[in-house]
Amino acid sequence: AKKSGKNQSAFFSKALQNTILMKNKIHDILRNSLNNNGFKLLYQPQVDVSTGEIVGFEALIRLKDHQISPAEFIAVAEEHGLIKRMGRFVIRQTILELSKWKVVGLDLKPIAINFSVKQINDKGIIEYIESLLSEHRIPAKYLEIEITESILLENDSEAIMFLNRLKEIGVKIALDDFGTGYSSLSYLSNLPVDKMKLDKKFIDQHLNESGKKIIKQLILLAEAFELDVVVEGVETIEQVRLLQELKCKYIQGYYFSKPIEDEQIREIHSKKYDI
Ligand code: C2E
Ligand code: CA
Ligand code: CA
Ligand code: CA
Repeated sequence: AKKSGKNQSAFFSKALQNTILMKNKIHDILRNSLNNNGFKLLYQPQVDVSTGEIVGFEALIRLKDHQISPAEFIAVAEEHGLIKRMGRFVIRQTILELSKWKVVGLDLKPIAINFSVKQINDKGIIEYIESLLSEHRIPAKYLEIEITESILLENDSEAIMFLNRLKEIGVKIALDDFGTGYSSLSYLSNLPVDKMKLDKKFIDQHLNESGKKIIKQLILLAEAFELDVVVEGVETIEQVRLLQELKCKYIQGYYFSKPIEDEQIREIHSKKYDI
């Protein structure tokens, strides 16, 4: 028993070492990529299920030259204090994309970006957003910021103040991964949100009746708070039909499109999907 205990601790410390090595490697890659234009954004359309029209996009960050998933490298960026610079890149790139649409004569449609809780501490971030919007003459309502419920865990009053300031300048706010975090919903009345994004897990459970009921209730809840609802992670026609039946208005997912490159998004920008 003693022997196997020893082996086990050797195993764990080896695993731990590997994790640390891996994180250090990712940290290096991130630092390098920040200094050498190594990030890009992909965009995924959000579709109105009653018309098939694209109503907006979500921007999702990628490393240009590495196959590391954002879930993985964003955690490292947050841990090592790189998330603020990365977040500014996302903001800037998104506003530049909107600006390109104007130049080539495309209508503006909102682009949503993901916002890490840690970015609240980025001093001057609101001024940064404001100055880029005004430099490119983009109305603030075309920029949407996705936050998760976890933003409330860190610092309630600071977070709410921050969101109110964003709201004041006209930026839209969406609550991401809705239903995966907090069990209490009381915060819905305190937060200046415009939109609620229902997590993929709800649609994955749709096949049974109780899953359907949950989605229906969440849509009603959103309506009660006058929020738009987007269901994420929709992959099949059956799911689309179900959401139509449940009177859900907006859908995002592989069924319509995976996240795609900026050139492609400009091509499909005004497309209407058959529905
Ligand atoms: P998220 O904000 O919940 O983004 C949705 C994720 O689901 C994206 O993964 C998207 O590619 C994926 N997805 C969309 N439709 C489908 C579908 O039909 N089926 C399946 N299986 N997946 C679908 P991605 O791009 O890997 O991003 C993962 C997470 O990383 C995001 O989750 C978000 O939390 C974070 N993230 C991505 N980009 C950024 C960013 O620019 N800044 C920050 N702070 N976080 C980001
Ligand atoms: Ca998101
Ligand atoms: Ca989400
Ligand atoms: Ca997520």
